[in-house]
Amino acid sequence: MPVDWLSSAEILERYRITNTHGGILSHQGGSIDAFRFTHDVLAYNNSRGLAIYDKTEIIKVKYGERGIRAWTSYGNIINAKKIIYCNGYESVNIIKDKFVKLLSTYAIVGERFDGDQSEIQELLVWNTANPYIYLRTTDDNRILIGGGDEPFLDTARRDSLLNQKRIFLEKKLLKLLPAEDPRRTFRTDFAWAGTFGETKDGLPYIGKHPNFPGAYFVLGFGGNGITFSITGMEMVSYMLQGKKHPLEPYYKFRR
Ligand SMILES: Cc1cc2nc3c(=O)[nH]c(=O)nc-3n(C[C@H](O)[C@H](O)[C@H](O)COP(=O)(O)OP(=O)(O)OC[C@H]3O[C@@H](n4cnc5c(N)ncnc54)[C@H](O)[C@@H]3O)c2cc1C
Repeated sequence: MPVDWLSSAEILERYRITNTHGGILSHQGGSIDAFRFTHDVLAYNNSRGLAIYDKTEIIKVKYGERGIRAWTSYGNIINAKKIIYCNGYESVNIIKDKFVKLLSTYAIVGERFDGDQSEIQELLVWNTANPYIYLRTTDDNRILIGGGDEPFLDTARRDSLLNQKRIFLEKKLLKLLPAEDPRRTFRTDFAWAGTFGETKDGLPYIGKHPNFPGAYFVLGFGGNGITFSITGMEMVSYMLQGKKHPLEPYYKFRR
């Protein structure tokens, strides 16, 4: 991966970000409007015949090497040869191994900035602090900053900290902006909290699980889950064809 080492003076000059101790600039990376992307992918495939049942929960599944039977919350029954679980953090409700640590995470996005911030439009910032913060801009010229993770899952407790975390993230942003920067007038437009999953090695769980015959799992945990979903798609299509994928040993359950 092509990278440059930048001193804090270089970071300040190039990106107008201060209070850093230098950093690594990688030219490989990208950002996407994940919500829009997901809807576009679904709409495209729906127009080619893919049936989509939104807001429909799978509440019970019976497994067998000869087939799967799944029940939806509306009482419909689905019979299939295989089932592929992409159910994210909810997977801990069915897989009883301790394979992921669920955390609470926070993010805020500011109001639209009227000025020019093209120097950071293409920049994704991720620091190495614990808890870390990350920063990026949006297509409509806002700044989004997130992090401040807490090591628990309790959603009521998580949401009760939202205001405190908003203030924490606003302070972090102000620390990064130089004294005269016009973006210091930053005002939060939205603040939200979510669940985040961490694995022991930062890698996802993709493949079969011994307790679920006929099922495959694509669980893209971690801060690179969206990238892992592409690998998951490739691996499951290999497995369905009875082929071995070279990444199987690294992503398997009970590794
Ligand atoms: C604030 C935040 C920032 C993040 N930033 C990044 C980032 O910059 N880059 C990155 O790569 N990753 C990032 N991630 C992580 C990324 O979002 C996840 O790794 C990724 O979404 C995991 O994908 P998934 O398909 O495994 O699960 P999910 O996206 O969690 O999808 C699981 C889906 O299954 C559905 N479901 C669960 N149970 C059932 C059921 N019984 N019946 C029907 N449906 C069910 C859920 O409703 C959900 O829609 C971030 C996560 C958070 C919370």
